[in-house]
Amino acid sequence: MKVVLQNLTKVFPGRGRRAKKAVTAVGDFSYEIPDGKLIGLLGPSGCGKSTTLHLISGLQKPTSGRIFFGEEDVTDLPPEKRGIGLVFQNYALYPHLTVEQNILFPLQNFKGKDKLPKARMLEKAEEASRLVQIEDLMDRRPGELSGGQQQRVAIARALVKMPKVLLLDEPLSNLDARLRLQTREEIRRIQRETGITTIFVTHDQEEAMSISDQIVVMKEGNVQQTGKPQEVYDDPVNLFVARFLGTPPINVFVGHVQGSRLYIGADAVLGVAGVPDGEVYVGVRPEGFVPCKDGSLTCDLKGVEVMGRDTSLVLANEVSLNPVVRAIIGGDEPVDEKVQTVRFELKSGKVFLFDRETEKRLYFEGSRP
Ligand code: ADP
Ligand code: MG
Repeated sequence: MKVVLQNLTKVFPGRGRRAKKAVTAVGDFSYEIPDGKLIGLLGPSGCGKSTTLHLISGLQKPTSGRIFFGEEDVTDLPPEKRGIGLVFQNYALYPHLTVEQNILFPLQNFKGKDKLPKARMLEKAEEASRLVQIEDLMDRRPGELSGGQQQRVAIARALVKMPKVLLLDEPLSNLDARLRLQTREEIRRIQRETGITTIFVTHDQEEAMSISDQIVVMKEGNVQQTGKPQEVYDDPVNLFVARFLGTPPINVFVGHVQGSRLYIGADAVLGVAGVPDGEVYVGVRPEGFVPCKDGSLTCDLKGVEVMGRDTSLVLANEVSLNPVVRAIIGGDEPVDEKVQTVRFELKSGKVFLFDRETEKRLYFEGSRP
């Protein structure tokens, strides 16, 4: 089932003495989520991710704009009529019910002609439990489960109705690092197996990048950029998106362009035909540095971290906005840890220029992937 958001807007009125200003939690959000895909909705805390999910689920009403599931306008339908499955960060399971009873719960709410016979309900609960691999835990209560297992129960409970759309709001935040990794793979597998259109909300760019077919990057209620994770990483439209994606983060320098040459400090580092003279921000991905004995960019070497396949150089540069500059180079490149400075050439496809005022991307010949 495709989901279409049309100029979706949610404004919360200011309330109380200290909050007179209204907050636009979601501003003019238009997007078509293709049928059967997993979309990662990504952005820092407070950017409007949860509000967007609440609007799609029907828990909140938009101030303006429409929502379609397939061709049907669902904007005025209550949540229970929309055929959605919801999983929140604080998966509230019923503590006094067993796992099986928790999963059965949504089915028991079916009324009238939708009501299922008991045996069919048990069958569906069994199917959902197998999907998330908790079929052996059906007789336990939530208190007797680990965090990861509880989250699986919550997912099974959202899946048992075979929803048309699955909405997941930071579902992995309460899990430790290893479980988080494992559970996100699970979610991806389940999504592929069931083909349910899924919206996965997270503030963790790595999480979103690793499992999404498409990502939507938000900032302060506004969509910044949408696309395949790799495309957005390789071709960010503004400084915010460039900085939000990637670990280690992109290195940002203040620089300027003069006569189609890019300067970082006094170093002329790259030809940038097509960019007018002026002040810019220069973003360089960590993998964009090539050590080179007469390279044009000079940085002070602060440390060398060997991490298996790659070597990470920790560097300093006077005009860097980040506290340290990080360059990732192949593990087989010899680096003398005792040198004071390292010189680099930059890979033009890994260098992004941004207007100093608007922070929008400035394109030069060779800057597009
Ligand atoms: P996120 O999930 O990305 O962290 P939210 O959607 O929860 O962000 O919130 C977006 C903005 O809307 C925030 O500024 C938040 O304070 C505000 N907000 C969210 N819910 C309400 C509400 N019920 N009343 C007033 N403001 C709200
Ligand atoms: Mg939230």
